[in-house]
Amino acid sequence: MSLASTCHQPIDPAEIPRYLDQGYRIMDPHLHTAKSPDVVPAPHVQPRALFDRMIAGGWSFVTFTDHDLMDAYAELPAEDPRLIRGVEIRIRPRRVGTHTRTHTLHVNVYRLNEGQFVELASIAARGDLDAFLDYARAACLPHSLNHPFWHEISEVLNRDVVVSLLRERYFEVIEYNWKRLPEQNAEMLALARLADIPVWGGSDSHQGRPEFATLVRGESFDEAWENVRAGQAVIVQQRLKAGSRHLIAKDRTTVPT
Ligand SMILES: [Zn+2]
Ligand SMILES: [Zn+2]
Repeated sequence: MSLASTCHQPIDPAEIPRYLDQGYRIMDPHLHTAKSPDVVPAPHVQPRALFDRMIAGGWSFVTFTDHDLMDAYAELPAEDPRLIRGVEIRIRPRRVGTHTRTHTLHVNVYRLNEGQFVELASIAARGDLDAFLDYARAACLPHSLNHPFWHEISEVLNRDVVVSLLRERYFEVIEYNWKRLPEQNAEMLALARLADIPVWGGSDSHQGRPEFATLVRGESFDEAWENVRAGQAVIVQQRLKAGSRHLIAKDRTTVPT
C-alpha cells in the first residue's frame, strides 16, 4: 500500500505507525502551555511537565506556541534539539492588498530568538503585515498562517481577505487546525489546493493534549520544515477515532500522548 503523496489528503490516525515505520517524524506544531492567558494553569500544562510527557511519549519535535509570549522557554532545556522555539503572534493588518477591512490573524513563527520575537511583536503591533512577513523571510524563520477563517469575537470575518491571503500566497504554509469546524478546514484545504500552498496540521490544544497532527520526513526540524514547504507533510484526520490511540499504544513502544 502506498503512502499518501500529498499533504492535502488527511489520513486516518490508524495509519500513523505505517508512516513512522517509513521514516516519518511526528509533531504537533500548535500547542499552548499554562503561560497562555487563556489556558487554565493546571500542573499538566506547565511547560516542563508537558515537554517531558511529550518526549517520553515519542514526539519527534516539540514546540509550544503561546499567545504573543515565549515565557515557556525559560523553563525548557534549550540545548535539546527536539525542542523548537515557537510563538503564536496576533496581527491585525492595516491592509491586505487593497482590503482595509481586516480581522486579526494568528501567525505561528518558529526558531526565533528573543530579539527576533521582540522585533516581530513590535511590527505586529503596528499591523504591518508586509513588514512582518519580510522580516520573517529575511531571517529565515519558519512561519505559517493559522486557522485562516478564525477571527476575534468582536470582529467580522472578511472572507475576501482570507481569499487574498491564500490566492496571493502571502504565506508559504497554511495550518489545518483541529479546533476549527470541519467545514472551515475543508474550505481552507480547497483554497490552499487551488493556490498550491502546502498545509500542515496542529491541534491548538489549550488543555495539554497534543494530538497526532503532522507527519513529515526530516532528521532535524529544519529538514522537516523544508519538506513541509515542499508540500510533503501529511496531516492526520481531524478527529481521532475511539480506540485509535490504544491501537497505536499496543503496537509501539513510543506512543505520543
Ligand atoms: Zn490562534
Ligand atoms: Zn493557538
